[in-house]
Amino acid sequence: MNLRFREIELKLNYPFKTSRDTKNSVKRVIVEIDHDGITGIGEAAPSPRYNENETTVIEFLKKISVAHHEDKFLLEEILGDFDSVGAGNYSAKAALDIALHDWIGKKMNIPLWKYFGFNSTKIPSTSFTISIDDLNLIEEKVKQAKNFHVLKIKVGTDDDIEIIKKVRDLTDKSIRVDANEGWKNKEVALEKIMAMEKFGIEFVEQPLQSSDIEGHAWLKENVNIPIIADESLVNINDLALIKDAFDGINIKIMKCGGLRKSLELIQFAKYFGLKIMLGCMIESSVGISAASHIASLADYVDLDGNLLIKNDPFKGVETINGKITLNNISGIGLIN
Ligand code: MG
Repeated sequence: MNLRFREIELKLNYPFKTSRDTKNSVKRVIVEIDHDGITGIGEAAPSPRYNENETTVIEFLKKISVAHHEDKFLLEEILGDFDSVGAGNYSAKAALDIALHDWIGKKMNIPLWKYFGFNSTKIPSTSFTISIDDLNLIEEKVKQAKNFHVLKIKVGTDDDIEIIKKVRDLTDKSIRVDANEGWKNKEVALEKIMAMEKFGIEFVEQPLQSSDIEGHAWLKENVNIPIIADESLVNINDLALIKDAFDGINIKIMKCGGLRKSLELIQFAKYFGLKIMLGCMIESSVGISAASHIASLADYVDLDGNLLIKNDPFKGVETINGKITLNNISGIGLIN
């Protein structure tokens, strides 16, 4: 078994602004695992929010040895071995997990959704993200999202209410709001959410700083729409701490370390009665295709990262009229 990796740069269609920063492009790391004449492909989409970038991914991957793992089906052992190489580094671990799953699917000649036993036709419509923008550009952004049934609007500025009002004036579609920890305290968040509720929003993602569990619990009691954890829930270790403070969690394979870890997290979160959102970073079709195979387990899907870039080097699952459409190609479903 042979492991290769390389850096790629994904260029965004439009500058992507959140309450934290503005991006024009992102660096990603593509991982390939060769064995038995089959190549499994994975991707790491590191986020500085979680102290990762393309350099930390590559440094971690350099420490990984795959040669002694002869039986590639022993995922529990192999991924456990990779995990023991170092703490954190979840996007690098996710890339290895995706590449191994892709390899297994190709070896067995079945798509991963079939390998897992999931229904490929029962995936909720994905949202399409509109990043924070000039009020004057909102109309154009809403038009660009014409094929999608659900919009996810990034907020966290003084114009939040005007932005949501403007979107609602333009469309009847479902609107979800993501504050990315951008509201300064629970009172401000409550005021904003109360004002936004009038425009019919479905839920709010991460209103406050990730560490403000008490603030989120207070908000959850005082508003009428679900509060979803994103930055407060990196992986399964955080679940016990936050489970009573939120109505649901945004799981990303890049945050929690891969498909296998995501499935584990989904089972526990459902046991605690939490809604499941399956989200993503800005990713190529490698990461998005991989996540799509488990998307039928989610209540809310936000897998649009590949649709926000203009130079996707890969082609995989397709998004048709806002629906993720899985194919019958083996592994994660990349089209050669
Ligand atoms: Mg979010």
